[in-house]
Amino acid sequence: MTIAYRAATVITDVLADTAVHDAVVLIEADRIAWVGPADRAPISAHVETVDLGDRVLLPGLMDAHVHLAFDASGDPVESMLARDEPARLESMRRSARQLVESGVTFARDLGSPRGLSARIRDEIRDGTTPGPRLMVAGRPLTRPSGHCWFMGNEVDGPGRARDAVREELDAGADLIKVMVTGGRMTAGTDPLRFEIPETTLAAIVDEAHHHGVTVAAHALSTAGVRAAVTARVDTIEHGTFISPQGGDGFDTALVRELADAGIAVCPTLGVVGAHAHPIPLEIRGGWIAGLHAAGVPILAGTDSGIPRHPHVGGVVDGLKGLLAAGLSTRQALAAATEAGMRAAGLPMAGAVKPGYLADVIAVDEDPRSDVEALLEPPVVIAAGRIVKDTTGEAGA
Ligand SMILES: [Zn+2]
Repeated sequence: MTIAYRAATVITDVLADTAVHDAVVLIEADRIAWVGPADRAPISAHVETVDLGDRVLLPGLMDAHVHLAFDASGDPVESMLARDEPARLESMRRSARQLVESGVTFARDLGSPRGLSARIRDEIRDGTTPGPRLMVAGRPLTRPSGHCWFMGNEVDGPGRARDAVREELDAGADLIKVMVTGGRMTAGTDPLRFEIPETTLAAIVDEAHHHGVTVAAHALSTAGVRAAVTARVDTIEHGTFISPQGGDGFDTALVRELADAGIAVCPTLGVVGAHAHPIPLEIRGGWIAGLHAAGVPILAGTDSGIPRHPHVGGVVDGLKGLLAAGLSTRQALAAATEAGMRAAGLPMAGAVKPGYLADVIAVDEDPRSDVEALLEPPVVIAAGRIVKDTTGEAGA
């Protein structure tokens, strides 16, 4: 089935800043078939046309770091552990719906209890649950009693680590998540220390790459980032350069190595000010600016689900954080669309071009003037399906 969407403006590529006015986008199944001026649109008589009026149509957004299993309450771990499996799945479906209704059409779930995120991914793909296109990590790999052990796959050496990678892939994982440092949500772990032996981390990366999947490494300190870079992981999550003393440990030489290795960083900027972070936002902004200046791909991502980081609207706050760090609006939007998606492993997505995935949103104002326009998009189309329409006209 083909549907023609007509809109006053279609932003086709946020980084190149190209747009078509009085435009039509033809969507065929889950792909964009054609985009161009309305008066040249190849629309045959049997094609349904949806008129989005004065709205701006653009690519849907990415959140490269979410936790569907966490509900963003004050203690999401406790509330998750209190639920049985059907209740966990229900909660995850709610998270997925919230994400996609806020304009997120692609997300990476970087840690959920065994098998659950893969199930939600498949339900979304089959059209039975509304949500973003998902890449899921399954259970995070962590040292015994390490960060997120309560839902993790605990590894105590290289042999066990290789088994754990295969276990997660067998359970449906698309990528592997590894806790390279401790985390603030898990008592008894140290965010400042590299917590997995080098040989174990190397085995995880080798086994994952052998199976053709990427590795996302949680690293909160300079020591952790260094270990992740040495092991040649694919993306670094959080990527904060906290020194062993708990201060500013930014390391220019390490960032250069990171850039040369082609590793992307997801700085997980969620709702600004929602979560007490030990390092002020201005300093973290400087780190992001340093990474960006060195040519490191930046991934928009929020860590949604952790305390007071709701699955709704966080990605827009995160974009504001990137702007505060000195990225231009085009660069910040690129981190959430084509450039970011490609770096996160999703090709042919994040732009409104023929052959690209039909993941698009429509908003009332042009987000290139103010990214706030992306909050609560009235229309969301994910994988060619209308999953949200509050215009009262479209998709009738
Ligand atoms: Zn996380």
